[in-house]
Amino acid sequence: MNTEQLNIAVSVIEAAKALHTDGLTCANSGNVSARFGEGLLITPSGVPYEQLSPSDIVWLDLDGRPRPGSLAPSSEWHFHCRIYRDKPDVHGIVHAHSPAATAFSVTRQPLPSFHYMVALCREKNSPPFHIPCCDYQTFGTEALSDAVAASLQGYQACLMANHGMIATGQTLSSAYRLALEVENLCEQYARAVSLNMPLMMLTDDDMSAAFDAFAQYGQKTSNT
Ligand code: 13P
Ligand code: ZN
Repeated sequence: MNTEQLNIAVSVIEAAKALHTDGLTCANSGNVSARFGEGLLITPSGVPYEQLSPSDIVWLDLDGRPRPGSLAPSSEWHFHCRIYRDKPDVHGIVHAHSPAATAFSVTRQPLPSFHYMVALCREKNSPPFHIPCCDYQTFGTEALSDAVAASLQGYQACLMANHGMIATGQTLSSAYRLALEVENLCEQYARAVSLNMPLMMLTDDDMSAAFDAFAQYGQKTSNT
């Protein structure tokens, strides 16, 4: 394994372990990958994250073919490979069964534009300002991958009906931060709904203004 592969494998393990410490997942649910060369590095299926070492992280080509002798890749390799094929800008993917996002996913509805941060999940010139929710399909199937790919058209993150969420990014750390934001937004929306009072959503103009403001937000010298 060369130094670049080692560094990326370490960052995949760190993100997977952080899913636990940040309360985004429990036990073995969820998976993490990063683009590497002509393929990707992904967590192996069903291995407790605290036991992972860099040599356990599985290299796959973009059609999901592993190198001989590697551990079995995450059962969700279909959608990880599909996203990297569909979106050349994506270099990191986080999938989690985080509590608030998973609870909201049972509604099978998109998360509405109740907060301007919802605009973070949308790509340029995309459809409505919300966080989409893909159809339910059995985990680990190509059908789930198709559903995810349809929902992620125009979006960097989606909920997955009766399952969880996916966040993508131009780096693994930006995908991870977006996963934290998606979970936080779902938690905030649940609290707002629990007030049992009328809720005012933001208008498309409000959301467009926030979307444009994000282009100027933060330190422009770094893209990590
Ligand atoms: P893996 O352990 O195979 O990655 O599966 C976890 C999961 O979240 C399936 O949807
Ligand atoms: Zn899952």
